[in-house]
Amino acid sequence: MIIIKSKKEIELMGEAGKIVAGAHRVVKEAIAPGVTTAELDRVADEYIRDHGAQPSFKGYYGFPASICVSVNDQVIHGIPGSLTLKEGDIVSVDIGAIYNGYHGDAARTHPVGDVSPEAINLMEVTKQSFYEGIKYARSGYRLSDISHAIQSYVEKRGYSIVREYVGHGIGQSMHEDPQIPNYGPPGKGPRLRPGMTLAIEPMVNEGTHEIVTLDDNWTVITKDGRLSAHYENTIAITEEGPIILTLEG
Ligand code: MG
Repeated sequence: MIIIKSKKEIELMGEAGKIVAGAHRVVKEAIAPGVTTAELDRVADEYIRDHGAQPSFKGYYGFPASICVSVNDQVIHGIPGSLTLKEGDIVSVDIGAIYNGYHGDAARTHPVGDVSPEAINLMEVTKQSFYEGIKYARSGYRLSDISHAIQSYVEKRGYSIVREYVGHGIGQSMHEDPQIPNYGPPGKGPRLRPGMTLAIEPMVNEGTHEIVTLDDNWTVITKDGRLSAHYENTIAITEEGPIILTLEG
């Protein structure tokens, strides 16, 4: 069941979203060669708690850290630790926070120092695919119109879309209905309507869309070892179209 939010609830989700966006800003500022992924986790955790929120991911199904940090061929769910960033890496950061009972969830992929033109292109296409998708986050379209727009944009540029992990509804729970695949034919699924709040999150691979989960039971990597990027925002569908809730303003 898709839970429709009131204007007041969407405002509250925007407050959670701003904290998530701020945490992304301080993490981005901390990213540099020589920095460990554990340090990024510390910076984000401190920012979230300093703003009166809680990190959504900590302890979620036993996840041991406050954010996910996934480097290079790591797709999602990387566990922050002793891994040290180096020049030329790309680093995907996924942050969730709960504030006054509502969650915000967003992901960004950043370069570490100078990176290859190929890596920059992958990150740009991943980000833009989100924006292509939310062109359809309006009354009258169906859910899979978003999915189809993302997949089409990505595959036309020679990249692939991860299938096993998808976007999701979000609100008082981090994961609500509906699931939102980043692929598939258009015109399917529920009709979109104002008050739906969705986390749209394309995961884009440079090579094959196939993935493997490491022995830590969390970290997801590309099967072929090539790069992957992730971009996500929490959005609300309104009468006036989509609003992105996980931006600082
Ligand atoms: Mg998400």
